[in-house]
Amino acid sequence: MISRSRLVITISSLVIMATAVVSIVLFSRYTLPVMAEHNSESHLTSATPSQGPSYHREAMFYQNLGDGLVECNICFRNCVIPQGERGYCKNKENKGGTLYNIVHGRPSAVQIDPVEKEPMYHMMPGTQILCIGTAGCNFSCNHCQNWHLSQRSIEDLNYYNLPPEAIVRFALEQGIPTISFTYNDPISVYEYVYDVAKLAKENGLKIIWHSNGAINPEPLRKLLQYTDAVTIDLKGFSQKAYDNANAELAPVLEALKIIHQAGVWVEIVNLVIPTVNDDINEIREMCEWIKNNLGPYVPVHFSRFHPSYKMKHLPSTPIKTLEKAHSIAEEVGMHFITVGNVPGHSYNSTYCPGCDEKIIHRVHFSVLENKIKEGKCGYCGYKIPGIWQ
Ligand code: SF4
Repeated sequence: MISRSRLVITISSLVIMATAVVSIVLFSRYTLPVMAEHNSESHLTSATPSQGPSYHREAMFYQNLGDGLVECNICFRNCVIPQGERGYCKNKENKGGTLYNIVHGRPSAVQIDPVEKEPMYHMMPGTQILCIGTAGCNFSCNHCQNWHLSQRSIEDLNYYNLPPEAIVRFALEQGIPTISFTYNDPISVYEYVYDVAKLAKENGLKIIWHSNGAINPEPLRKLLQYTDAVTIDLKGFSQKAYDNANAELAPVLEALKIIHQAGVWVEIVNLVIPTVNDDINEIREMCEWIKNNLGPYVPVHFSRFHPSYKMKHLPSTPIKTLEKAHSIAEEVGMHFITVGNVPGHSYNSTYCPGCDEKIIHRVHFSVLENKIKEGKCGYCGYKIPGIWQ
């Protein structure tokens, strides 16, 4: 059992140790910062002042169209990029007919978090993850809570020089079992995620990523080979909800099916935003789709929206709306439904579908008690799907 205050102290201590280790042992120019708070609007602490794009990592999954044009095929946008220009996410640049990932090895946010913060509730509860975020994103959500990163170019941000080897070595030395790509969308920095994931798996670490899920099937399948678990932000279940993210729903649903079929653990988070995606019928339709296509055991997190970025005019989500969403998911037959961003709510915790006992007691991101033993409910023995060690 670990209290929230103790957890904060523990994380702070690790960050201080981390800074020293990275600075002294690895590379003198590296530092490990405490960066943006996840799901908050806190400003990022600076590291190396930006020196602009990097051209050492050629992009994967692109084609040369002739006349200097290239087409990036990582995500649903399939950007056609003329010479000297960048794709929608701002992270892919066509330089002389070659497409580069210009933020590879240059994260602007690095932080140690509890795995619960993703949210990721069925993977080694109470353990730490090394979180990496960069500039850029392939969505531009009006409500983005990390817009300081996601809606900026590499030139606008300070960053850390952390090639894949440095990240993996750091996680190993600090005993952090999992590396997570989060904050902005990992899809927009695909090659960095892929290189870190491959190296991390070779070294016995776990890899998770938190994404909008609008990735094309081929790059997705390739990355899943080196992925343990994924948290997908389902922005709603209508084009209206996806218009608010300047994106599309269909590619996300396709990706969810591929992840599930690949046997990679997936959890879904739905930020419920008043007037955007809080229609009860839409929530029911979404839950039915999840149950019919991914099964009843996929954890669904209904998360509370707070006014941010371009949507400061909206109120926070009423807690009753989240509770209603929870009861709809229950009626549909989903087994693991939680409510997030409401610290102390009883729906922060996980309950056994077999006996209804509380099997993981959480307060916000802290695990107070875990009654799962060898993947089973400690009360009735019901098998609880997930990654428990
Ligand atoms: S990853 Fe970026 S450049 Fe590539 S298709 Fe998506 S938005 Fe466009």
